[in-house]
Parts: sequence; C-alpha cells; structure tokens
Amino acid sequence: MDRPKFVIEPTEAESMANQLGLTVLELLPSLVKPAQSLARPPISKYHVGAVGLGSSGRIFLGVNLEFPGLPLHHSVHAEQFLVTNLYLNAESNLRYVAVSSAPCGHCRQFFQEIRGASDINVLVTSDEPNEDRSKFRPLSYFLPHRFGPDDLLDKDEPLLLEPHRNGLSLLGAKENCCSELCNGDTFAEELKRAALDAANRSHAPYSRCPSGVALIDCEGKVYKGSYLESAAYNPSFGPVQAAIVDYVANGFGGGYERIVGAVLVEKEDSVVRQEHTARLILQLISPKCTFKVFHCC
Ligand SMILES: [Zn+2]
Repeated sequence: MDRPKFVIEPTEAESMANQLGLTVLELLPSLVKPAQSLARPPISKYHVGAVGLGSSGRIFLGVNLEFPGLPLHHSVHAEQFLVTNLYLNAESNLRYVAVSSAPCGHCRQFFQEIRGASDINVLVTSDEPNEDRSKFRPLSYFLPHRFGPDDLLDKDEPLLLEPHRNGLSLLGAKENCCSELCNGDTFAEELKRAALDAANRSHAPYSRCPSGVALIDCEGKVYKGSYLESAAYNPSFGPVQAAIVDYVANGFGGGYERIVGAVLVEKEDSVVRQEHTARLILQLISPKCTFKVFHCC
C-alpha cells in the first residue's frame, strides 16, 4: 500500500474496499497499521494509529505525536489527532473508529465533546488478532457513566464538530511582540487572517476563551489549528498542537524545524491564555520560528 493519506474521499474508500473484497467499514481496521507508520513518537516509540469514518463517508487518519524536551502532557494522542483532522475538514460527525490499542481515559473523555459520542463505534485492533472486523463496540462500553458537555452546557450549545462562529475581530498587535513578523512581511497578514479564522472556529464553551494558531513552513504553506476544549478541562487540546496536526497531515513531511513563523490570536487578559504555552512549544520544536500574538475581542 502507498503511504496513506490522512483524508480518504468516499469514492476512493469504496474503491480501496472493493479491491480488498471488503466493505468500507471493514476497511477501517485494515488501515490502522499503515496509519501507525505515520506516527511520530520519539519518546515512547509506541506507534498509535486511529482510523475514523465520518458521516460524509470520508475516512480520516490520526496518529500520536511526541515532542522531546517538552512535558509529556503536550503529546498528541492519535484519537485527538483524528478528531482534529475531522475538525480541520469540517466533518460533521464521527461514526466509527478503529484504533491500534485501547483508547486511554483521556481520549475516551475527549470524544465526549462530539454530539452522540456514546454511539461512536470503536474497534481495538490489538484486541482482535484475527482481524475480526465486526467487533465494533459503542463508546458507552468503554466509558459508561460519562461526564460530558451536557453536564455543563445548554443543549443548544454547538459541540465539537458543529459549526462555530465566535464573531471575533482583531484589536491589533501586541506592542512587545517579537520578530520580523512585525515588519509587514507579506505572509504576516495571511498568517494573521488564518489564526483569526482558527480562533473563530475554536470550541471553547467552558472558558469562553477561544483561540487559534496559524503556522507557516519554509515553503510558504500555511497551517492552522483551533483551541478545542473538553468538559473535563485537562484533555483540552491546545491551538499549537491543533496546527501541528494540520502540519503533519497536510505538510510536505520533514521535521518541525521547517515551521518558520507562527501567529496566535486570543483574547487579551482572558482567564485562559495560550501565549506562554504556545511560545514554549514553538521555541522547543522550532527554535528559529518567529512568533507573534494578536489580541481579539
Ligand atoms: Zn489517548
């Protein structure tokens, strides 16, 4: 099989399934191993792959990412990557997930942000050495007695994969920001717009502190990531990690040092701020990356 793509269109999924004599649903577990080959876990060397089927019929891949030099809680789990991949591609729901090993408690919780989460069907391929492709179980089997958005939010509040329009606009540049990004580079405007767009799509119903990050690589390609909150707070997914998901899924390969510029958009003086964490992560993974913060309201 060729190097797998992170998003597989429905027609392509059907064609792949037909070639293997499988249904599209049966195709999911067969894509888990190829997905694992895309993981970047230099600390644990433990490759996790997650393959999801969205309600549009598209298939999405997720992998784990680890960052040497940073605390472990900055790692990206394959299921979080998967959900972020759906989000980046405006997929409205997740129906089935095949994953290489049992989802950890953190990921079982993160899935709760999706409407109807209890009915997402999960298959753990390591539990099925004979590749029994019928062993999908609802997420409620893995996480009974759940705590989730319905414990904290009105039922009309948009959940994670539903459209978000936060209505944010920029206040202007922070005066003490760093970098040549301040000097009117042509890409600065594009990055700023992309980060604002990501902030406007951010899922932050618990803190009301949405934020977004845009990254640019040395070839001028822009990536973006929205801050995604969890009802349980700790599993919330930072905007830098979300943008790194876009970089890994849609970039040209290669290390993070190819990221040369970054913009964060968030509210000024908000109770949840990303600036310090974003700077820490970026300085570590790409020391020459310029970083700039814009505030919005
Ligand atoms: Zn996990």
